[in-house]
Amino acid sequence: MKIHEHQAKQLMAARGIQVPLGRVARSVDEAVAAVRPLIQESGSPVVVLKAQIHAGGRGKGHFKEYPDVRGVNVITDGIEGGPSAAEERVRELAQQMLGSTLVTIQTGEEGKKVNRLYLEQGVDIARELYLAVLLDRSVSRNIVMASTEGGVEIEKVAEETPEKIIRAEIDPAIGLAAFQANELAHGLGLEAEAAKNFRRFVVALANAATELDTDLVEINPLVVTTDGQVLALDGKMAFDDNALYRHPDISEMRDETEEDPLEIAAKNAGLNYIKLDGTIGCMVNGAGLAMATMDTIKHVGGEPANFLDVGGGATEEQVTTAFQIITKDPNVEGIFVNIFGGIMRCDVIATGIVEAVKRVGLEVPLVVRLEGTNVEKGKEIIEQSGLEVTNADDLKDGAEKILELAGRS
Ligand code: ADP
Ligand code: MG
Repeated sequence: MKIHEHQAKQLMAARGIQVPLGRVARSVDEAVAAVRPLIQESGSPVVVLKAQIHAGGRGKGHFKEYPDVRGVNVITDGIEGGPSAAEERVRELAQQMLGSTLVTIQTGEEGKKVNRLYLEQGVDIARELYLAVLLDRSVSRNIVMASTEGGVEIEKVAEETPEKIIRAEIDPAIGLAAFQANELAHGLGLEAEAAKNFRRFVVALANAATELDTDLVEINPLVVTTDGQVLALDGKMAFDDNALYRHPDISEMRDETEEDPLEIAAKNAGLNYIKLDGTIGCMVNGAGLAMATMDTIKHVGGEPANFLDVGGGATEEQVTTAFQIITKDPNVEGIFVNIFGGIMRCDVIATGIVEAVKRVGLEVPLVVRLEGTNVEKGKEIIEQSGLEVTNADDLKDGAEKILELAGRS
């Protein structure tokens, strides 16, 4: 699960990690009302208005409706005009940003609708660095990744100048050690006050990552101010979904408007669904069989439209929801149902499929492969249903059949 920048910063601040002062706003009026207190509290006449979406690249991104407006706006009107000038500019920008669609390098062309804004104190930036804590599966540990190249995409740095990325493994028993924090500070060329602040920052960040069960914490940029402060100017956090039960406060931060509506529907029905880019919708029971089905579709030259595991004891309700989800994806040109009747008997599943198809309707070809207990009875039910459903004998046969039928339609 991902959260917004303002939420990540709130979690960081609560753990002693330095972030700029800021306020979240869900309406134009809230954004305007945040200006004066922020200027007073921070002592800086500069404020920054930032679109909150679950994607980066906002600073260089633009709005579909207002091509000249960026996703991150540094507002300097307050320097000469005072707080009321800053307020006016914030009002104008917030009106344009809220409800509009922001397109960045990470959102893809369709962009993301902006529903909330974050107003932040303007920070005097001396240096922009990169800092992240991420799960390195090859060592089964969190690692710290840092670079002097902040504010640019880290993938680019990794490709073009990999020597500029430094790493440190976090020992789960002792956290990030002082000598490691030292080495990182040194590697980033930090000295005196800035080095001291950085060491404290990175140790606290490593602890937060462990405590919060994050998959990724990325701060790009981490900034050093002209007076040696070290602050998280941006904040991205993603959590291990399997650990969310330990963090009810974080679960509450979920913003469903940022997530795929089909994936939410699937989750609510207890289905494991991940949308992919292909054209063959798959409905399978068991994660292993689902993977094997996707592999086989690829093997015969097709592309799966999704991963969908209806579980070992799928109910008729779940099968119906699964059909609804698959058929709502406009890319789907054919559906392949591949079910092994173990816990569940094939005749029960076949009845479920027939009922689901009757309820949901079918506009694309459907191939069903059943195997296991009562398979003959199951096939009979499908054949006698009068629906246009093709039976398949085995996995490869089914994959080939659906590909052929989908290609024809
Ligand atoms: P994104 O990564 O989505 O583009 P960032 O939060 O990294 O968004 O902001 C982009 C750039 O905007 C930063 O690299 C920084 O130069 C500038 N910026 C962001 N927040 C502030 C701030 N509070 N004060 C000054 N500059 C900022
Ligand atoms: Mg950034």
